[in-house]
Amino acid sequence: MVDLRHIGKAYKVGDTNIEALRDISFSIGRGEYVAIMGPSGSGKSTILHILGILDTATSGTYLFEKYDITTLSDREQARIRNRHFGFIFQRFNLFSELSAMENVMLPMGYAGLSKPQRKERAGELLVEVGLENRMNHRPTMLSGGEQQRVAIARALSNGPDVILADEPTGNLSTDAGEEIIQLLETFHRRGVTIVMVTHNPSQAARTERIIQIKDGRLHSDTRQGGSR
Ligand code: ADP
Ligand code: ADP
Repeated sequence: MVDLRHIGKAYKVGDTNIEALRDISFSIGRGEYVAIMGPSGSGKSTILHILGILDTATSGTYLFEKYDITTLSDREQARIRNRHFGFIFQRFNLFSELSAMENVMLPMGYAGLSKPQRKERAGELLVEVGLENRMNHRPTMLSGGEQQRVAIARALSNGPDVILADEPTGNLSTDAGEEIIQLLETFHRRGVTIVMVTHNPSQAARTERIIQIKDGRLHSDTRQGGSR
């Protein structure tokens, strides 16, 4: 489903080029549950941003299903991003002035649903992540774990094929983090592809595959038992 071929990414900072990624190649099949690990600054977030079309590679080819992402216009890239990918970030990235419900409804504007339909779907998703009693709360009234569950409901709102999670438990207690991992595992069992950056070896051990990045290069790619 996802196929990276010889991906390179350079950031221009003033007169210098920072090579964040060099010659990264790997494929991810539909329904896989993958951990990306590696030292800080090794390029893990950059890979996630390229996979989710939040950023584009400076060299190489990215194929997503039948699309060659590298050749598409910004508009076509945005359409594929909204339709196929959901994102979860370490810092939740919710809109603080909107309720949980409104945060989850927001991305659905692209999907051509009426407002009542969006409300209904957002409500169902919030129930699924265990927030039936928090729908009208703003993020500041919620714990970190609850905010991340809102973010998961938001990430699922357009029925994505792939969830990209960048250290989703990095700002949470062990218990709250465990609940987030269990939610991701639930959606994985339903067939959602999950790619998660994590520093936590026991979380990585529960996935089906660990991709290690070092200095912007693919260091190892190991399949394992996983949680299914
Ligand atoms: P990781 O997620 O593994 O910590 P990143 O992908 O965030 O690593 O960063 C990889 C490298 O690219 C680092 O050297 C980082 O400083 C650099 N980098 C990331 N984003 C930018 C940016 N927007 N501008 C310049 N350099 C960046
Ligand atoms: P960190 O990994 O340092 O905790 P975040 O996970 O909050 O940072 O965000 C990582 C990167 O993703 C940032 O560079 C941010 O600009 C970008 N980003 C965060 N949220 C979104 C979003 N909803 N859409 C597009 N880009 C985003």
